[in-house]
Amino acid sequence: MVGLEGTTDVVETQGVVEAQGIVRVYGEGETAVHALHGVDVSIEPGQLTAVMGPSGSGKSTLMHILAGLDRPTSGSVRIDGTEITTLGDDALTKLRRKHIGFIFQFFNLLPMLSARDNVLLPLTIAGEKPDPQYFADLIQRVGLSDRLHHRPAELSGGQQQRVAIARALVSRPTVVFADEPTGNLDSRTSGEILTLMRSSVEDYGQTTVMVTHDARAAAMADRVLYLDDGEIVKETGPSSQHEILQMIDTLDVQ
Ligand code: ADP
Ligand code: MG
Repeated sequence: MVGLEGTTDVVETQGVVEAQGIVRVYGEGETAVHALHGVDVSIEPGQLTAVMGPSGSGKSTLMHILAGLDRPTSGSVRIDGTEITTLGDDALTKLRRKHIGFIFQFFNLLPMLSARDNVLLPLTIAGEKPDPQYFADLIQRVGLSDRLHHRPAELSGGQQQRVAIARALVSRPTVVFADEPTGNLDSRTSGEILTLMRSSVEDYGQTTVMVTHDARAAAMADRVLYLDDGEIVKETGPSSQHEILQMIDTLDVQ
């Protein structure tokens, strides 16, 4: 594991995602925005890692870079041992298909496809078919059995996010990233979605990294990273909601 001081040798680490010295600058010259200032992070397999921090602290930028959806200005990102920052676009797309699932705040489903076809899309694009038993289990688990032929517009927000979760899990990726997956949902639905995220870690051993503003969500995590102004300023192990709220107060990051 890479410590906060970044002293551990990356070669000896076991993380499925290893990032070192991640810098991301948007734009140039006087208007340049320094979104990340040199982030080191190692994501442990089989764990739920929560990422907290105020708006604008660089959470989405970090998720996108770790997931290969954006490239850092400098620094290294390894996914399952492969350095992705130097990969060409085609190779990166292939690697993402195999290793990465991504859940967005606003679901990002394709409106003209049914729930079923949205879930299957990552496999369809890769020219693969789902394992029928796994697919049936997944659909039942996310509670979509009677909604499979509906289009996104015919589904509630919670149901749409369930489709997005199933889509992220369908290819059994090495790691799932979720960027505020409950940010657009009411409290009760958020609770259901969080339970689902946690159970995918428990039942499938799904390595998951989740950005959240919600201490209740972070309290379900095995580990919490606190980001402020483009840096990881603190890291804790499993924590209660109360401990997390206290930590946020101490750090004054939210
Ligand atoms: P968070 O997800 O924690 O709210 P972001 O990663 O979205 O933070 O943003 C971090 C910083 O980078 C903010 O100052 C934001 O305005 C800036 N930023 C994000 N995306 C862009 C972009 N495409 N172009 C310019 N600045 C951006
Ligand atoms: Mg964000």
